Amino acid sequence: MSLILKDGKEELLRKLKYEVFRCAFCGFCEYACPTIRYANFRRQYGPRGRIQLIWMALREGLVTRASLEGIYSCLECGACTIHCPAKISIAEAIRAFRALVSHGIIKIEGKPSKIAPVIK
Ligand code: SF4
Ligand code: SF4
Repeated sequence: MSLILKDGKEELLRKLKYEVFRCAFCGFCEYACPTIRYANFRRQYGPRGRIQLIWMALREGLVTRASLEGIYSCLECGACTIHCPAKISIAEAIRAFRALVSHGIIKIEGKPSKIAPVIK
């Protein structure tokens, strides 16, 4: 599924959930990722960790400063995506999450310890 930023915000959020909630956390995507290697294999700097962090944000409303650093340090290179057996559009999901945050649809209030997906 393609997550197109010109989609309406409700449609974009729906598509993002469809992508992220299919993740089985198998880790096949991680070997191709340049940032997780650079970060000494800390989970939040790889595709599985980033998808998991977005999952936590959307399902539990939880985000930490460390998780934001992970999500925002993605290069959006897409090297991970072709390795995903579930065909999750990983880089696009990360880009869509960041777009939803920057447009205020997913709000991060105060300290980044709690977020609330908001559809205006
Ligand atoms: S390969 Fe796909 S299903 Fe497996 S952890 Fe990565 S994103 Fe999730
Ligand atoms: S798109 Fe992001 S998560 Fe995927 S391989 Fe590139 S840097 Fe890693």
